[in-house]
Amino acid sequence: MIVAANFKMHKTRKETIEYLKELENVEFTRVKVAVFPPFSALVENDLIGAQNAYPAQNGAYTGEIGLEQLNEFNIKRVLLGHSERRHILNESQEFIAKKFDFYKKEGFEIFYCVGEPLEVRKQGIKAVMEYIKSQFEGIDLEYEKLIIAYEPVWAIGTGVSATTEEIKETHEEIRKLTSAPILYGGSVKLNNISEILDIPNVDGVLVGSASLDVNTFKEMINKAK
Ligand code: PEP
Repeated sequence: MIVAANFKMHKTRKETIEYLKELENVEFTRVKVAVFPPFSALVENDLIGAQNAYPAQNGAYTGEIGLEQLNEFNIKRVLLGHSERRHILNESQEFIAKKFDFYKKEGFEIFYCVGEPLEVRKQGIKAVMEYIKSQFEGIDLEYEKLIIAYEPVWAIGTGVSATTEEIKETHEEIRKLTSAPILYGGSVKLNNISEILDIPNVDGVLVGSASLDVNTFKEMINKAK
């Protein structure tokens, strides 16, 4: 099982360091844990990954960070294609695929997010899968360091998780396309994590808001063991 924390634009560097300290005494033998803090809180730690990265070593890309900055902290893990980057920052599939390709060549572990908006979900699983397949364009689904996160847009940060049936059918369909681990994300909380982790083809969770409290996140890790 994989349990990942996405801080989004929350927490300072000091808070992130304190958070990681709290995780030091957690037993990770049967669970893989990843933590994605904001850029300003990147530190050298095995759990840490970047929430995003530009597909270049360095260069004239104001407001971005690239390989050189990640190397400084020995970071080898990146989150790509998060719905907030797709929909708020207007990242195109072509650009995301470029990032994927660049960081794949650098041997990064890539957490790759896909997920449909509500109007697509309302049309049923066939439409959902067509949408998700368009988000797989240009992505090597057999990359050995790929971890997929299925995150329906309407479930992220809303407090409304997808139903067991919706998660089950979608993960089952994604599983037909790849052997990569498939995480579920979207309003995963302490009170629904066990039920979600029990669904076939769910290999873990990507947690946003509920991960901000380290004690809650620790309990989630324990439930995943
Ligand atoms: C996320 O940011 O990837 C996420 C799933 O957020 P939340 O858990 O808050 O819905």
